Order: sequence, then C-alpha cells, then structure tokens
Amino acid sequence: MTVLHVGIDDTDSPRMGCTTYVASLIVEKLAAKGVSFIDYPNLVRLNPNVPWKTRGNGALCLRLRCTESQVEEIKETVVDTVEENSDLDFAGTEPGVVFCFGDTIPEKFTAFAKQAIQGIVKLSDAVKLVKAFQAEAVGFKTQRGIIGALAAIGGNLKDDHTYELIAYRTPQNRGTKRQLDPTSVAEMDKKTKPLTFNNVDPETGRILITPHGPDPIFYGIRGETATVVRRAHRMVKATEPIERWTIFRTNHGTDAHLRKIASIEEIQPFNPVVVKGKVSKAPSIIPRRHVVFAISDETKQVDCAAYEPTGELRKIAQKLLVGDVIEAYGGIRPPSKKRPMTVNLEKLKILELAAKTVSQNPLCPQCCRRMESMGVNKGFRCPKCGFRSTELKKSIVVKSRDLKKKLYVTSPRSQRHLTKPLSRYGLEKSNRPDKMISNWFWINKPVS
Ligand SMILES: [Zn+2]
Repeated sequence: MTVLHVGIDDTDSPRMGCTTYVASLIVEKLAAKGVSFIDYPNLVRLNPNVPWKTRGNGALCLRLRCTESQVEEIKETVVDTVEENSDLDFAGTEPGVVFCFGDTIPEKFTAFAKQAIQGIVKLSDAVKLVKAFQAEAVGFKTQRGIIGALAAIGGNLKDDHTYELIAYRTPQNRGTKRQLDPTSVAEMDKKTKPLTFNNVDPETGRILITPHGPDPIFYGIRGETATVVRRAHRMVKATEPIERWTIFRTNHGTDAHLRKIASIEEIQPFNPVVVKGKVSKAPSIIPRRHVVFAISDETKQVDCAAYEPTGELRKIAQKLLVGDVIEAYGGIRPPSKKRPMTVNLEKLKILELAAKTVSQNPLCPQCCRRMESMGVNKGFRCPKCGFRSTELKKSIVVKSRDLKKKLYVTSPRSQRHLTKPLSRYGLEKSNRPDKMISNWFWINKPVS
C-alpha cells in the first residue's frame, strides 16, 4: 500500500465553481474505487491579504491510501475532474494539482505552506520544491494553482484546526436565492454553540452559513468536531434539495494567517501581523465612516484602520486615546498616494489604558454652583450669587474609560475565514484526529 497526498487549487472564478466542490466530486469517485482516506479532505485557507485574490483563497488536499497499481488511475481521475470542473475560460483561473507520495510530508513543504498562509510565495519556488522531492505537478494555463496545491499538502493543520460541513446545491438552483428556514438555523446555533461558530451574526441576526453568489455552495457549518457539524447539519431545514455534502478539516477560525512581529518596522505589505504599539495619533473618521488612528513604537509609526463593516471593532477603535497601548491584528495595505501603509484591523487587544482627564472650573464656595471663567488669568465668577475669586483654580478630573483591557474582535459578519472568533478562544486543539469517523460518515452518498 502507498500513501498519496493530492493538492488542488484555483479551479473557480467569481462567476462559477468552487474548489471544495471539485474535491467532493473526486472524493466520491475515489471512494467508489475502494480508496481509503487517512484524513478528512483538508481545506487550507491561504493568505487572505494577497493582492490578486479577491475570494476565499482556499486550497484542498486529499490524503489517501491505495495500492501501487491504483496510482495512475487515481491521478487520471483527479486531473480529469479538475479539468472538467474548472472555469478555464476565466482569465484569473489557473488550476494546479500536486501529487506527493509517502507517509511523511517534507518539512520544506510545511514551511512553504506557512509562508503561503502568512505571506507571499513564488510559483518558481513551488516548482523547485516539487522537483526536489519527486512530487508531481500538473498545472493549467500559467500554472499558478500549483502554489496553493503544494501549500495544501504542506499545511498540516497541526497547530489548531476546525471542521466545516459544506452542503452543495443542485445545478438548476445555482445562481438563485438560497432557500432555507432561518428559524432552524437560529435554533441550531443555540443548541450547538460554542462547538459550532459563526452561524448567525449576533448584532444583526443575519444568517452567516449561506454565502451569496452563483457558486455551488448552499451552506457551510463550522465547528470543533466532525460530529458536531454533522449534527448541526441535520437540524438545518433546507427548502431546496441538497445535491451532496462533505465534511472538511480546515484552518478556518484559527488565526493561522497572523504572524506576531517584534516591532513596527518589521511590517511588510501583504503580510498579516500582530504588532504592539502605543496610540500616537488619535482616531479620526475618514469618508465612508472608517476609523483611522496610528500606533508607534521606538522604531516607527503605522496607521491602523477599522472599516465600517467591522461593526463593534470600529466603535471600540473610535474610543482610543493617545497613550493607550494596544496590539493590532490584521492584514497590511501597502502605501498609496492617498494613505500611508495601514493595518486593516481584524482585532485589537487593549494592553494599557491612558488616563482620560478633563479640567473643570471650580465650584462656588457660597452656593456650590459651577463658576464661570472671566478670561485667561482673570479668575472666576458665580453666575448665581455673583461671588468672584482670583484665588480659585481649575481642577483636573480623571474620567472613567469606556474600554476594558481585553481583546476586541471584528463582528462575525465581517470576519475572514481565518479569523479566530472570540468563541473559539480556549477550544484550540493541536493534535490531528487519531482516527477517522467511519466511511460515508463525512460524505453523503450522491443523489442519483
Ligand atoms: Zn455662588
């Protein structure tokens, strides 16, 4: 028996398709051939901050065991299915497939994956690695999909992982409004959280499990175990047919894209960070209600922006004062003509709060009314009894801050796939599941 890892990426376009769907089709075809899987299909989200990617940027890896004699047939099935289901006519769709043999994934693949999740990687480096470790790659058009395909193989989900059950629509329904009972989703959310997450936006009540757009995804339910997402899926009442569904093991909700750096000068465009600094420019509101402020340390200053859709986070950012010490979490927008380099906030942690002080005129010693100033250095006058004094002074009053020293996270409706929601803190898991749930538990048999 031999172990085979199959990485797949970049089959979809904004107008159609989804690489998870292609992976589901392949899983079914291979399972029917008697291939056994050693892991759930892995769905690895790569750096959401890369400039040429506007959608989810998710790559897939299937890990399986088969006989030597099955290898050629498996490769053929994979490549044919990718070719048939990719939007090859679309300019930006550049599918790639990588096959890697053996129990152990080369450490260099893992390092490449980490860089693809947290930064920028080059196609030429992916191709070199494929050659160096006797893997095999098939690329269409510019072959850029080989990057994600290799990263999916190396992205071992070792530090933390979650699951997503994705249900798909029948072809005739794609592009129409998704039909499901919202009450059943709210009920499912109540019964399964915090083991499932981001089903419903708590601020607006909006259903978050259904995407928008013409892709084949009906809904996706995220959670901590395969069992819980499957249970949650049974609670959701769909009012249109479900073509098929699959459970993926993913890096969703794990913050895998964020790299903690030691100083602001280390910030690089398109490399999401966690960085500490002191607020050095007070928050201001720029057009479209975004909030911008700056933080600095001994090395540099950088702008931070909380965009309007971040909801709660934007309100928190607006209350910051110069002198507050925070940790900023987010992607990096390079400098433009209009704005300097900016951290697009996904989260912010308040480490220290500066004192908020206001100066007040003294109270009248005769009648306790707040006195009025008669001008700079001219003393105060009581508006009620007329008492005057040049001796009394303004007093400094410390006001309470409407913020806490804690972590604030963007509202679920504007969280990226990779953003770890507050509800997941403390639920992280570093080991791979010891054994797969039994066959056909994590995929349904396709409708005929
Ligand atoms: Zn008075």
